[in-house]
Amino acid sequence: MALIERIELKRPDQIRLMRRAGLVVAEALAAMGEALRPGISTGDLDEIARDVLAAHGATSNFLNYGADWGFTPYPAVVCVSVNEEIVHGIPGSRTVQAGDVVSVDFGAVVEGWHGDAARTFVVGDPNADDAALIEATRRAMWAGIAAAHHGKRIGDVSAAIERSIAGSGRAGGHDFGIVRDYTGHGIGTAMHMAPDVPNYGRAGRGAKLTAGMCLAIEPMLTLGRERTVTLDDDWTVVTADSSRAAHWENTVAVTPDGLWVLTEPDGGRAELEALGVPVSSLAD
Ligand code: MG
Repeated sequence: MALIERIELKRPDQIRLMRRAGLVVAEALAAMGEALRPGISTGDLDEIARDVLAAHGATSNFLNYGADWGFTPYPAVVCVSVNEEIVHGIPGSRTVQAGDVVSVDFGAVVEGWHGDAARTFVVGDPNADDAALIEATRRAMWAGIAAAHHGKRIGDVSAAIERSIAGSGRAGGHDFGIVRDYTGHGIGTAMHMAPDVPNYGRAGRGAKLTAGMCLAIEPMLTLGRERTVTLDDDWTVVTADSSRAAHWENTVAVTPDGLWVLTEPDGGRAELEALGVPVSSLAD
């Protein structure tokens, strides 16, 4: 039986609270990115993220995730996924080395409203393939965000992401894998809500995008194929072929007159204007 979940629509004052959560997320991701250097442990990044949460009186939506339905509770506030790890890497004593590809996924809750975003960094200088992978993932995220206009459909976002990835692959001679086992999602009073936002699909399909919807758009790409394996810790997801992966994510609000990227310090203004997409007047 299909489960039909209602999509939560937010008022402007609620979107402003989500912006506060989004800014906490953006600050923590930037702090972790700046701290990244050879020898730092993934657990050190978790400590940095915990400090940012505490400084803002925010709470974690990652910590203990899964406990509510009897799954192994997630034990950290951030996911740090290195090289062939795609998502949900658990921080710990592992130290990163020059050339490692490090995806950092982080969320925060302010007054009950959630933010969720991810960035992929390289420790030191990237090789050409890793740089292309990360840039293709980042561009695909922005292509998906730019397609999330009021009046369009979820399938338009998915198709834009898929098209962007194919274009980046053709331009650089890569055949990126698009991870299909994990998708973007609605977000608001919980981190994962309806609707799912796949990173591939057909334009014109799926739920209609309406003002007040907030989405986490998060393509995950690999340098190989898309098949995934979950490790025995119940969380860490790796590529089945050990190819490297990248993950970019932002939380975006759909409003009547434009978009507001809640987890970017500038609200997404620079990227949206470059793509010719209107920025919400809520961001002024
Ligand atoms: Mg997410």
